Parts: sequence; C-alpha cells; structure tokens
Amino acid sequence: MTEVIQAIRGMNDILPPETFLWQHVESVMRRTLQSYGYQEIRFPILEKTELFKRSIGEVTDIVEKEMYTFLDRNEESLTLRPEGTASCVRAGIEHGLLYNQTQRFWYTGPCFRYERPQKGRYRQFFQCSAEVFGFAGPDIDAELILMSATILEKLGLKPYSTLQLNTLGTPASRAEYRKRLITYFKSHKNQLDEDSVRRLDKNPLRILDSKNPAMRDLISHAPKLLDHLDEESLAHFERLQEYLRHAGVEFEVNPCLVRGLDYYTKTVFEWVTHELGTQGTVCAGGRYDGLVEQLGGKSTPAVGFSMGMERIILLIQNLHLDHKKNDFGIHAYMITDGEEAFAAGLKMANYLRSKVPNLKLVLHCGGGSLKNQFKKADKSGAQYALIIGEHELKTHSVSLKNLREDIQQQTLYSDELAEYLKLKIAKK
Ligand code: ATP
Ligand code: MG
Repeated sequence: MTEVIQAIRGMNDILPPETFLWQHVESVMRRTLQSYGYQEIRFPILEKTELFKRSIGEVTDIVEKEMYTFLDRNEESLTLRPEGTASCVRAGIEHGLLYNQTQRFWYTGPCFRYERPQKGRYRQFFQCSAEVFGFAGPDIDAELILMSATILEKLGLKPYSTLQLNTLGTPASRAEYRKRLITYFKSHKNQLDEDSVRRLDKNPLRILDSKNPAMRDLISHAPKLLDHLDEESLAHFERLQEYLRHAGVEFEVNPCLVRGLDYYTKTVFEWVTHELGTQGTVCAGGRYDGLVEQLGGKSTPAVGFSMGMERIILLIQNLHLDHKKNDFGIHAYMITDGEEAFAAGLKMANYLRSKVPNLKLVLHCGGGSLKNQFKKADKSGAQYALIIGEHELKTHSVSLKNLREDIQQQTLYSDELAEYLKLKIAKK
C-alpha cells in the first residue's frame, strides 16, 4: 500500500461542521471591527527575515527559537510570519499609508511558530488583529480595548475573561528600570532558570513574562515598573483607566504583564480566561509608538491587539456556546427522477437560489432511485425535499415535502415555491 502523507505536526485541518463555528466567529469579529470604522488590510504570509528580527527583537522566544525561516531559491532568508504587526507596519510604510495621517486597520490570517504543540498552542494558528496608527493619547487605547471587549461580549465570552492591564512606560523610563531589575535578579542568580539567566543582561524584562511556576515567587518580589514610571506614561495610564471605568470595562492592573515582544511601549493588555489552562490568553495587545520609526518610517504612534482564533473557538466549545453553528445547515435538498428531470432541476435550483435570499439548496447529483435520494435528503439535515418527477416535469412545477414536520406534500409553480421558501427562511 502507498504510504499516507499526513499534515505537519501542530498544523491543523479545520473541518466541517467546525468551519461553521469559525465562520460565525470571523463574521462577528469582522462586523464589530467594521462598526468601529476599521478597514481590512491584507499582506503576504512570507516576509524577509530581517523584518521580524528588527521589530520583534532578537532576544525574544519568537526570534530565538520559534520562527520558520528558510532560504528561497535565490538564497534570500525568508520567514513565515509569526505575527502580523510587523507586516502591517511594513505595508503601511511601503504604501505611504502612515505618513501624516491616521489609520484604523484590521486583518486576519495564519501565523507560524515552531512551538511545542498542545491544546491552544499550535505551529500554524490564526489571529484576528486590529492596528491603529497616528494617535498618541489614551483615548484610542480606551476605544480599542472597548472594541475587544465588545467582540468577546458578542461571542458570549466576556463573563469568562478578565482584562489585565499594565504600562511599560517610555523607553527612557524603562532603561532606568531595567538597571534595577538586573541588580535584583543578579542578587538572586541561583534562583533563575536557564532561560532567565540568558535573558538577564540582554532583556531582563522578559524574565517577568516567564511561564515557569518555580520563578513565580522571585518575580512577584521584583521591583515594579509602575514605581519607576515617567510622568507622561503615568498620566496616560491613569487617564486610560478612567476612560475604561467610565465605559464599564472592568480590569485588573497586573504589574508583571510585559508581553513577549520588544516593541511595546506604555499600554499593554491581555484578555485571560481560566478555562483553557496555561494557554489562557485569548487576546493580547498594546501600544508600540517606536516601531514605525524602527522599521524606517516617520515616527508614528500606534496601538493594536491580536485575538488567538483557535483559543477563542476552543473556549466557545468548552463552554458549549457553539449551538450557533446549526444556523449554517442547508434548507432544501432537490431530488430528480431521470436525466430530463435533472436538467430541469439544475435550472430550477438556480432560479430558486436567485429568488430566495440566503437560500441554501443542494441539488442531488450522482443519480440513484428516488428512495435513495430521499434518504440522502433526510441525512443532509434539510428541512425540505424539492422533487421533480415525471408529473412535475410535464406541468413545470415542483413538489415540496417537509422532511421534519408532518405536513401534507404540495405541488407548486416555481414563483409560488420561491415565495413560500422566502417566507419560511425569513422566519428562521
Ligand atoms: P503565549 O504567551 O500564550 O505564548 P504570546 O504572547 O506568544 O502568547 P502573542 O504573540 O501576543 O502571543 O499572540 C497573540 C495571541 O495569539 C495570543 O494571545 C494567543 O491567543 C495567540 N497565540 C499565540 N501563539 C499561539 C500558538 N502557538 N497557537 C495558538 N494561538 C497562539
Ligand atoms: Mg508565545
């Protein structure tokens, strides 16, 4: 037997009916983002490796060990995007979209990270993200966070998620704090794990982000950035909290929240749930005022977030909130008796689809007896069977049978049938 080729570890096929749930979630996100005036932007999933090194930072998990990087046929180093922000900024600069103007963008698509696959952590995963450019104040931070709360609310996930908030200050105040942090961790060097020792000199803030439980105690006693912030960042942070309180968005200030990427400044936030174990962050974001300049553009303030689609889907499934997917089932299944009837059915089915908005109608293909076709119709989950037999062919009509309720079969002309289905589908 020929060997069966399987998918790459940590890269998932998403199959029906689960795809219905994905479509539902994507549609809620898209509609919400658009209702806040965000415009969709699309960019390639491959970029020059340098883009991610320069933006995410050399001493981060992503750049150190998670990127899918390879040489193409031209010996150029390319990387499958591990996240979208860098590409979004690259595209914005390249097309002059960030220069002296404001932008509200959103995008969705796959990201790639070479991680240890487990529930909620994969090597290909999807993000849905929003990025805003050109606003320096806490007003946009507040609106962006409120928008993320609205998405979770619309998906029914808000009661199961907590908003954690922190500020990383300006690079200058962070540099000062960095020194204190190095002194603190150096004086407890024997308690540091391997990763932390490596990060100590280059990127000590990332130690605060450690997921190692053995490090928790040491981290909780470390000096707090909040106590060493510059005035401007403090005022920004306080105003943001006031806006959120006013908007009724509850949050917790978590001084250990630093995020895994180097480019953040001031506001950082995460929506965390207890329902997914250690993969509990379903949405993460923050301000990155330095990144546009770092990538060669004119200094432009920016802020954004990313939602982890798989984690959101998992959460919905764990909480049994996925009944929505039934809305995507088909309405009608058309069966025909013989080749001539099929030819009529092919035309009739298209006529009905054009007349009845949102109609989901499957035309039986592959022949077989009427009995067999009825069986297929029943299995399809459709509410109605539409039948074209000898009599219907002669009279240019269609018979309609309700497969789920005990209602007498009726024979209708095409326009009558279209009206009937329109009414029934609109009611649903
Ligand atoms: P984590 O701390 O869980 O590793 P992260 O800080 O690396 O997350 P980000 O780079 O902020 O994650 O990505 C934004 C969101 O994308 C995360 O909050 C999470 O929901 C999702 N995400 C990140 N990595 C993965 C992955 N390997 N598989 C599935 N979802 C992921
Ligand atoms: Mg990670």
